[in-house]
Amino acid sequence: GTDAIRVADHVRAHAAATPDAVALIFEGRETSYGALDAQASRVANGLIAAGYGVGDRIAYLGKNRDDYFGLWLGAVKAGLVMAPVNWRLAPPEVAYILADARPRLIVVEPEFLDRVTDSAATILLADQGAGHPLFADWRDAQDAADPRRDVGYDDAVLMLYTSGTTGNPKGAMLSNRSLLGLRASVPSAELPEWYRWTAQDVSLIAMPIFHISGSGWGLWTLQHGATGVVVREFDPTRVLDLLVTFRITKIMLVPTALRILCDHPQAADTDFSFLKTICYGGSAIPLDLLRQAIAVIGCGFAQMYGMTETAGTIIGLPPQDHDPQGSERMRGIGVPLPGVRVRIANEAGETLPAGEIGEIMVASQACMIGYFDRPDDTAQALDAEGWLRTGDAGRMDADGYLYLADRIKDMIITGGENVYPAEVENALYSHPAVADVAVIGVPDAKWGEAVKAIVVPVEGETPDPAALIAWARERIAAYKAPKTVEFRSDLPRNPSGKILRRLLRDDYR
Ligand code: ATP
Ligand code: MG
Repeated sequence: GTDAIRVADHVRAHAAATPDAVALIFEGRETSYGALDAQASRVANGLIAAGYGVGDRIAYLGKNRDDYFGLWLGAVKAGLVMAPVNWRLAPPEVAYILADARPRLIVVEPEFLDRVTDSAATILLADQGAGHPLFADWRDAQDAADPRRDVGYDDAVLMLYTSGTTGNPKGAMLSNRSLLGLRASVPSAELPEWYRWTAQDVSLIAMPIFHISGSGWGLWTLQHGATGVVVREFDPTRVLDLLVTFRITKIMLVPTALRILCDHPQAADTDFSFLKTICYGGSAIPLDLLRQAIAVIGCGFAQMYGMTETAGTIIGLPPQDHDPQGSERMRGIGVPLPGVRVRIANEAGETLPAGEIGEIMVASQACMIGYFDRPDDTAQALDAEGWLRTGDAGRMDADGYLYLADRIKDMIITGGENVYPAEVENALYSHPAVADVAVIGVPDAKWGEAVKAIVVPVEGETPDPAALIAWARERIAAYKAPKTVEFRSDLPRNPSGKILRRLLRDDYR
């Protein structure tokens, strides 16, 4: 049955059927499916020979590179769990994650070697450098015969840390089922067209592999026997060049990257005609950006909503709901993928009727096994029936389309009313003197919490706080409008570009 297909099986099958087909392209180097599968087998044999057991973690700390995929697939063939680490994090944050994951082996790019302190793990360098053996040398010295270890469908194969927007990052353990179950359980013809792939697709792996938007996207590419062009790190000039050179058909971008791409002077002269779909998601997209992107690029657009805990996309807004005028649906995140059940719940977990705002709950094969080593957090997030609390507030309309309000942890309760910061921020964004804005609740004797806006003004502008408050009041209910406005030159963001409202709140507590 479909349950038999594991993460490394697709590449193994493509290697047998079309060994010379190109799996990965990276900085002028091509890796065929045959070579990729052989790399994975060598890695697996090396891990087994080193005595590592099923469930042990191996970590990768570095920017995107083609080698990563052979390493991951090799780990899977050996029954180990791949844990890529965010290289953009500060040294203490990397140390926190390595201490949490306790990997047996760390493959690290030389420029990040100084981040690996205090670890009992074996270290291999992903590139030429001093002090440790080279990963490629170690790999290529191993036996190439496929070990064909039996790995459970529900065993962990990937451990990704959440972005740490609302607290410390947590290691979400994803199984073969989490990563493959959704597609395997539905005949391909029943999947939305934008979500379907063929071996002829050429995808750009432009998002970081330490995030599901990179690793998950790469896996989709390889699962279908398509070609993945690996981008070391997002750079608009490079991405525009690669789109044309390799006639990319599919790409995944977070809204910040899409903005940078659309604003690039070269974008207007780029031939985007090969591009079938741009998938965007990971954080809220401003409507004006979406309109701009449709105007500049003109291909199909699909929004993806998901999280680390759901191995990525579970809800999507299909291309046909993207009209250039910006329909109401473009303000939402779309409809659940086949096989995904979604409901909106109140605090007690009871399902709310259409139109009411509550927590978005998801039941799907895509949901994680749990957080690594965090039984309490896991029990909080996943109930016995398999419903996952997303931590996001939203509503569903009568047609089943979902609309996000905001993170539940960021909700402000002022005078007994719930205020979602995103709505207030959107009202303020539209002011011509506002470049960036974050809205938080601050302790207030009268209201419990009071709405506060922290605004980054457009360069050269000095907006008047009272005028900004009046602007907001014209657009949203008076109780939602900020009571106070403060100005700063920038806002704290995590590496994926999400504003860290928790840090701003700390300043006022
Ligand atoms: P942490 O869980 O550590 O606080 P995080 O939730 O930001 O961090 P991720 O798993 O990377 O970590 O992000 C998932 C979250 O990103 C979702 O819960 C949602 O809030 C947001 N998100 C994802 N896709 C979209 C989208 N299409 N539109 C708006 N927000 C989105
Ligand atoms: Mg989260």
